Amino acid sequence: MFIDTHCHLNFPQYDTDQAMVIGNAKKAGVKQFINPGVDLFSSLQAVNLAKKHVGVIFAAVGIHPYEAQHDPDVRELEKIIIETMKKRGNEPSPLVAIGECGLDYHQYSGEQALGKKDKQKRLFAEQLELALKYDLPVIFHCRDGYDDFFDVLDSLPSQPRGVIHCFSGGLQEVRQAQKREFFVGFDGNVTYSKHLQSIIPSIPLSMILLETDSPYLTPAPHRGSRNEPKYIPLIATEIARLHGVSVKKVEEATTANARTLFQIS
Ligand SMILES: [Zn+2]
Ligand SMILES: [Zn+2]
Repeated sequence: MFIDTHCHLNFPQYDTDQAMVIGNAKKAGVKQFINPGVDLFSSLQAVNLAKKHVGVIFAAVGIHPYEAQHDPDVRELEKIIIETMKKRGNEPSPLVAIGECGLDYHQYSGEQALGKKDKQKRLFAEQLELALKYDLPVIFHCRDGYDDFFDVLDSLPSQPRGVIHCFSGGLQEVRQAQKREFFVGFDGNVTYSKHLQSIIPSIPLSMILLETDSPYLTPAPHRGSRNEPKYIPLIATEIARLHGVSVKKVEEATTANARTLFQIS
């Protein structure tokens, strides 16, 4: 079985057919899902979804760097963590990680540029402190800001565990991740990105997680339509091709990696 370690099943793109999307993923062998938040509202939604699908969907709570311009209050995020982590008997915890959080220096249209980097770094550091405080792994989002990203991490008293989701760096960043024992997450863009196809053969399977980032980043040959977790096997197939191993081997390695990082069974 596969685990989609990053999908936004609570996004409005699935409002009308969420149950079918989950069912179709299961039919394709994708049996568990990590659903990260991008702000306070979607984090709470992710937790509620995970509570409805115990042991199948797991939530991460976090604030995306894009939200830094709106000065979100991380104490509100901590309240969600405390509330969710209250003892639940023998049930698996619906909350398994902090994220997605990190740095995104890409300039989006309509985004406030003034003080952007400082605000993002502060928001990221505050969430890393929560990860250490509550001993949770982190789903990192990093785009165009790897130097600052590793600087923020180095400013911490200790390193959290984590995955650099939708990895877009080069081999130098892979080595940085390896040094910190981070995982790297790959998405549908491995089916068409020449850059990713050039670096993946050098990245050990023991570091790799599979994710779709649904509803975004639809793999070939479905580009142009909404992405779904059921496409995880297409990503596994491409990574298997690049590594010259069987899809089964990629499936086993990446599922084991996800279980290790998120401590799920
Ligand atoms: Zn992201
Ligand atoms: Zn995402």
